[in-house]
Amino acid sequence: MLVTLKEILKEASNKEYAIPGFNVFGYEDAAMVIEAAQELNTPVVLMTNRDAIAHMPIKILGDILTGLAKEAKVPVVVHLDHGKSVEEVVSAIKAGFSSVMYDGSQLPLEENIRRTRKAAEISHYFGVSIEGEIGSVGYSDPNIEAKAIYTVPGEAKRFVEETGIDAVAVAIGTLHRMKAQKANIQYDRLREIEELVDTPLVIHGSTGVKDEDLTRLSRHRVGKVNIGTALRMAFGDTLRDEINSRPEEFDRIKFFKKPMIEVKNVAKEKIMTLGWGRKQVLEV
Ligand SMILES: [Zn+2]
Repeated sequence: MLVTLKEILKEASNKEYAIPGFNVFGYEDAAMVIEAAQELNTPVVLMTNRDAIAHMPIKILGDILTGLAKEAKVPVVVHLDHGKSVEEVVSAIKAGFSSVMYDGSQLPLEENIRRTRKAAEISHYFGVSIEGEIGSVGYSDPNIEAKAIYTVPGEAKRFVEETGIDAVAVAIGTLHRMKAQKANIQYDRLREIEELVDTPLVIHGSTGVKDEDLTRLSRHRVGKVNIGTALRMAFGDTLRDEINSRPEEFDRIKFFKKPMIEVKNVAKEKIMTLGWGRKQVLEV
């Protein structure tokens, strides 16, 4: 079923587990993320980043992802990741997304607050959840120009109070596009933010987070944990092996089968580390 982020964050805010948000690029990975969530009976967030909406018109992508979400046996959020303008947020809402992110994290604080509040008013009018970002999670990819800024706890408090957003991304030591699990999480900064901010927190760049830290974060007031690179590597690396090992084959559907299974396996592993493994043990 298609749900908003706000609906499933209520369940996750009990500090037992975090909702996995996976960046997907089309049918193949989105369907496998949903299968992973269904097999573990967990909610999940399908997220589209800028590369995805540059590749496929957002309306078509929205139709595919919301179509999959509506057929799913578990709650599924269809979320715009890193919307950079209010116009992008509106186009996602028109395309049927149930949740959006407005990312003004590179702007001065006042301007970030002003534009995020505007995006929040529009989103809420249409019953869509919204995430903002304060501080800025940087990129380990040198081709992407974005300043990394750790979140200042007092600014986070002001940001959520003045914007009315449903979830807030914070920068506490992660970086986007890390291939290895080497991020150093600043738990002191996280605790300070938690003391001041009631809104569920979001961690971006979580492919770079160690398994033990993913589990530890799920016990904090972290509502959503974003994972993109791990699934892209699973799909791309397996696809490369498939193509190299079968030079006579040309049918892409046959090439996609193994990469899809790998995406599902990695999604399941990540979901389990976010506290859901513990929940399932308790329920048995
Ligand atoms: Zn991000």
